[in-house]
Amino acid sequence: MAVVQVLSITDPFEVFRKMAHEAVDALVEKFEDFFKKGDLPTVTEISERFNETKRAFLGQCLESMLQTLAADFLRQEYASCPGCGRLVRRKRIDKRKVSTIPGDFVLPRPYFYCADCGCGFHPLDEHLEIVQELHQLDIQQKIAKLAADLPYERAVEHFTDLTGIEVSSHFGHKTLNAIGKEATAEVVIPDMEEISRRIDALSDGASRPVMVLALDGAHMPTRPEGGRAEKRGPGKYKEAKGFRLYLMGPDERIVHIASWHQVKDASAFEEEIALIASRIPQDKVKICLLGDGASWIWNLYKKYFPEGTEILDYFHCSEHVFETAFCQYGETLDAREWAESVMTRLGLDMAGSVIAGLKRMKPANEDAEKSILSLITYLENHKYRFGYDEHKKEGCPIGSGGIESSNKFICHTRIKRSGAWWLKENCNAMLRVRCAIYNGTFKQVIENYKASKFKKLK
Ligand SMILES: [Zn+2]
Repeated sequence: MAVVQVLSITDPFEVFRKMAHEAVDALVEKFEDFFKKGDLPTVTEISERFNETKRAFLGQCLESMLQTLAADFLRQEYASCPGCGRLVRRKRIDKRKVSTIPGDFVLPRPYFYCADCGCGFHPLDEHLEIVQELHQLDIQQKIAKLAADLPYERAVEHFTDLTGIEVSSHFGHKTLNAIGKEATAEVVIPDMEEISRRIDALSDGASRPVMVLALDGAHMPTRPEGGRAEKRGPGKYKEAKGFRLYLMGPDERIVHIASWHQVKDASAFEEEIALIASRIPQDKVKICLLGDGASWIWNLYKKYFPEGTEILDYFHCSEHVFETAFCQYGETLDAREWAESVMTRLGLDMAGSVIAGLKRMKPANEDAEKSILSLITYLENHKYRFGYDEHKKEGCPIGSGGIESSNKFICHTRIKRSGAWWLKENCNAMLRVRCAIYNGTFKQVIENYKASKFKKLK
């Protein structure tokens, strides 16, 4: 056996070279017909042949390399028990198949068993970071990334096409959910150091850059637990609460920092707002807070960003104003002119005078009366959140386009597929992974995932 061979040669590199040579010999045989036929094969034919044979060849190389590099571990006879620390003797050698992107290989590794703790273990697995699943972490992270963009069936289809590795869509599903579990807000949202770095890159030293936090909800198709749709009943739309944090760069360019979206209620979402508040160096930026009419948004802003400038989304506001205009004046030019003049005065931060005017208005009918009253309440609730002209001058956005595009890009494009109804837990795992990729923190998520795997082995 190869393991024995390792013992007799001292230079490990020389051992590897000898073993890899055998792999080359095996590979060359697969190309023999090209040399015998006489006809010149095309590049496509050669490429196909390499694709068919490369994994067997590289798998053999990988196996040889590990047998050389890990020679000491492969012949390890004693190991200390991870439970009690007692030294235990090797029980046997277990062979296992390992699948990586370059190729598959078989690893014979020592198995130890501690009778006191009743626990068996393979120390080499942890040294080499070999996970229990057949497909290793390199495959798992690529699958998760693909499945974050495409429906599971399509993701595994592309993966198999490109790598030659057969994986099931169930494996894709399981892997994404497991990685999503480790994609906590702590890792998915960049840390303070990274946020500071992005601020400094924009800062001209003279004025503080404008940093925008926008909150919004998006409706996600969710379903209850259970097997078939007929049995478990219909799905329903639930609100995913989300925020986007970004900087205003030159020419009103958005410099993205973080997106975070989860189907949960406002009180559970608060933790994540507290987290983001703790990571923003608030003295380095001018903070603008954007939102629509939903009260949960403004309550959170008040609590965590008392110094921030609150701005009510311009379009949300103008929708309200136009609705009242049409109730009062019908779909007329008068209605438009009235609504535009209201928006102009709100832009000049004259909510007080707009409210006074509304109170003096004679409603044209019952609907108009209702609409006027509701607009008065709305304007009173958001009294200090207009002043659009001044905000624009200071470089703050007045519309929530930033969060809306995040809603669309993170949530809708992957979650809202025809016929797709998600378990809330799986929907949230998917959203977290998508946020991590978008925020540039996917690598840290994978580190977390890896750590969770080896914690369990210990
Ligand atoms: Zn023990």
